Amino acid sequence: MKRVAVIGAGAAGSMAAIFAASRGAQTFLLERTADGGRKILISGGGRCNILPARFDESRFVTESSPGLMRKMLRSWPLQEQIAFFEEEVGLRLAEEPESAKLFPASNRARDVRDGLLALAARRGVTLLMKTKVTGFAPSGPGWRIERDGNAPLQADAVVVATGGLSVPGTGSDGLGLEVVERLGHAVHPTYAALTPITADPAPFANLAGVSLNVTITARASGRTAISTGGFLFTHRGYSGPAVLDVSHVAVRSRAATTSPARLLVRWTPHGDEEWESALRPRGTGTVAGALRAALPDRLATALLGWASVDPARTLADLRRDERLRLIDTLVRGVLPWTGDEGYRKAEVTGGGVSLSEIDARTMESRRHPGLFLCGEMLDAFGPIGGYNFLWAWATGRAAGLGAARGSCTEPSGRAPQACGPGAHPPHQLPAGGREETRA
Ligand SMILES: Cc1cc2nc3c(=O)[nH]c(=O)nc-3n(C[C@H](O)[C@H](O)[C@H](O)COP(=O)(O)OP(=O)(O)OC[C@H]3O[C@@H](n4cnc5c(N)ncnc54)[C@H](O)[C@@H]3O)c2cc1C
Repeated sequence: MKRVAVIGAGAAGSMAAIFAASRGAQTFLLERTADGGRKILISGGGRCNILPARFDESRFVTESSPGLMRKMLRSWPLQEQIAFFEEEVGLRLAEEPESAKLFPASNRARDVRDGLLALAARRGVTLLMKTKVTGFAPSGPGWRIERDGNAPLQADAVVVATGGLSVPGTGSDGLGLEVVERLGHAVHPTYAALTPITADPAPFANLAGVSLNVTITARASGRTAISTGGFLFTHRGYSGPAVLDVSHVAVRSRAATTSPARLLVRWTPHGDEEWESALRPRGTGTVAGALRAALPDRLATALLGWASVDPARTLADLRRDERLRLIDTLVRGVLPWTGDEGYRKAEVTGGGVSLSEIDARTMESRRHPGLFLCGEMLDAFGPIGGYNFLWAWATGRAAGLGAARGSCTEPSGRAPQACGPGAHPPHQLPAGGREETRA
C-alpha cells in the first residue's frame, strides 16, 4: 500500500486526502490549526459559495500556460463536482439565481468543511490536526515531512496543499510556496488578489454603505480587467465583487515601476447615448432628478459634485460642456484610489508555483517524483463566484488520485474515482506521531 501525506486540510488538501484514500492509499492529512478548512468557514460570508452554477474558463488569471490551466480545470467537470458534493459528501446545493453561485442549501459553510472532513475520515484518512509542518524533502525513494514538536513522517508521496498568503489568520503562511521554490520550482511573484481597493484621503467616505451594480475597468500597462457586478463604497475605499475582480490589476500596478492602474467606472447600464437622451431638456426637470432616476440619491449628488455640475440646474439650463463632463463621469468616471487592503483581506493569492513544471493530469511535479501540488499555491485564480473553490477541488482531487497512483489495480484510461473505502488495512501510527481522527 502506498503511503501518502497531504499537507494542509483546506479545500484542496481535504479533497486530495479523500481521493488518495479512495484510491486505496494509506493517507495522512496534516493540518496546523485545530480544525482545518478555516477559509471554507469564512467563505461566501459564512455561507460558502462552493462552486459556480456555470463558469467561464477565460476569467481565470495565470501567468503560466492557459492551456495547461484549462487541462487542470477540466480534469473534474463542474457537473461531476456538483454530483460529488450532493451524493458523496451529502450536501444539497442551491443556486442563487441572480449571481449564478452555488451554496449549500443549508447556507452554512460549516456543513461544507465538516462534510469534507467527515468523508475523509469515512474513507480512512488519518487526520493529524495541530500538526505544523516545518519542511519536506525527498528522502530515499519517498518523502520526509518534518513536523513541529513531532517525529518526522515518512511517505511515498506528498501532496502540498498549504494554500497561498491570503488571510494568514486562517493558517496559510506560505510555507509550501517557500519550500517548493527551494526545491527548484519556478514561482511567479505573488500578489494579493480579490482584495478591496483603498483611497486615502477617501473622497467618498460619506458614501460608505452605498452599493449598486456597475461595470468597472482596471487598466495598467499591458493588463486590463473588466467586471460587471456589485460595487460597495467603504470607509476606506471600495469593495464588492466587481472591485475585487479587477483589483489584481491595481495591486500589480503598485508593485511595478510604471504608472498606477486607472480604474474607470460606468455607474449605470447606460452608455453615452442613453445619457444624452436622459439629459435632454425636458420641462422643469433638474439634472439631479435625472440622475436619481438611475442612481442612489447620495451617489447622484456626489457624481454631480465630481463633474462640477450644480444639482439644482434644470435640464433646460444644462450647458453643453457640463453635459459632456457629466456623461463622462457617469460612463467612464475615473475612480480615485491610492492603495489596497493587501493579503489581510485578499480572498486569494495571485501568482505562485508555475504550472509549467507540473503534470496537468496528475498534478505531480516534473522536477521531483512523488511531489504533488494543488490549490491556491499554484499560479491561477478566478473571479468571485465559486471559481476558486472549483480550482481547489479540481486540482486537489487530481493530486490525491495522482499521489495514490499504484495503490490499487486501476482500470485503464480515466483515473478511478475510488478503490472503495476499507480497501486497505487499518492505519498504523507513524513513529512518535500524535493522531487525532475526527468523525
Ligand atoms: C474571506 C474569504 C472568502 C472566500 N470566499 C470564497 C467563496 O465563497 N468561494 C470561492 O470559490 N472561494 C472563496 N475564497 C477563496 C478560497 O477560500 C480559496 O481559494 C481556497 O480556500 C484555497 O484552498 P487551499 O486548500 O489551496 O488553501 P487554504 O484553504 O488556505 O488551505 C490551506 C491549509 O493548509 C494549512 N497549512 C498551511 N501551512 C501549513 C503548515 N506549515 N503545516 C500544516 N498545515 C498548514 C492551513 O492551516 C490551511 O488549513 C474565499 C477566501 C477568503 C479569504
